[in-house]
Amino acid sequence: MSAEERRKTSPQPGRAVIIAIDGPAGAGKSTLARHLARHFGLLNLETGAMYRAFALKALRAGLPLDESTGLEQLASETSIRLESGDEENRVLLDGEDVTGLIRNPTVTEAASRVSVFPAVRAWMVGLQQQQAARGGVVMEGRDIGTVVFPNAEVKIFLDAAPEVRGQRRYEQLGQTGIAQPPPPEKIVRDLRARDERDRNRADSPLKPAPDAVILDSTHMTLEQALAAAEKIVAGKLGQPGTRS
Ligand code: C5P
Repeated sequence: MSAEERRKTSPQPGRAVIIAIDGPAGAGKSTLARHLARHFGLLNLETGAMYRAFALKALRAGLPLDESTGLEQLASETSIRLESGDEENRVLLDGEDVTGLIRNPTVTEAASRVSVFPAVRAWMVGLQQQQAARGGVVMEGRDIGTVVFPNAEVKIFLDAAPEVRGQRRYEQLGQTGIAQPPPPEKIVRDLRARDERDRNRADSPLKPAPDAVILDSTHMTLEQALAAAEKIVAGKLGQPGTRS
């Protein structure tokens, strides 16, 4: 289905459908969001990449990551845009393509830290709403269904046990050809630390929206999780599912 056709199916006049995918780190949100975007002819927007790009800028500027004032000032001088790509979003930080620079452990940790500040979040939410104003998107993050698009037509909260998320992340790293991936226990520890920060921050903590469908993929294969998500979306949009 084309984005134009999808636009017609939104109950909100003038705006196409929005699918919100939230959940903890390493749950497989990106894979799921990419798949749903392709399947339903939508644009995929990864909001985590925006926090990562901002964290990269803060690191480059040598700013303390635990003080809001400097970060707030920096945000006021920063532009971040996502563009759709085949596999992942292209991330433009002040016009510079930083896609290849934001997935390392230093930036990952920094993104988790800078994203606790309300001023940073308010700015980021505004950018995200602008990027998806016309709809026709699958937007993935931590607060999409609760804060960024509380009226999204479909909300999925994707979860899995931390050990399973850690193991999947470990295998993923192995496949990308990284010479020495960290051991699974370390990956699980890091995921837990990031989750903790996301779940316990005062401003827009990570939690399912009341009307989100919880999809726990702990005991599912990737194929099963994708099929389950397709069914949820098709059900919400009132279309026949494509797989049984
Ligand atoms: O999803 P990803 O791991 O790329 O996100 C990086 C960090 O950005 C997360 O650890 C989380 O703290 C933060 N984030 C957020 N809200 C979002 C997306 C990401 O706080 N909507």
